[in-house]
Amino acid sequence: MKDKAYYLDFGEKWTQDYIVYGSKNPKTNRQERYKVTRNQDDKFKCSCLAYMCGRSNPCKHITHIKSYLHIN
Ligand SMILES: [Zn+2]
Repeated sequence: MKDKAYYLDFGEKWTQDYIVYGSKNPKTNRQERYKVTRNQDDKFKCSCLAYMCGRSNPCKHITHIKSYLHIN
């Protein structure tokens, strides 16, 4: 099987997803959930609007996860 080498190319990269719960949405009565993704360089991304609009500024969800993990 030649496919193996393909997987080895990505062997050292990894990401870890964390789910952060936000406030309840009064319209849908559902709790908001945001996905914070961490990669191997300790770079963080978040799925919330504040992060998307804030460009590279970390949102409160990323800050929350960072303090939870004791990073910076
Ligand atoms: Zn966020």
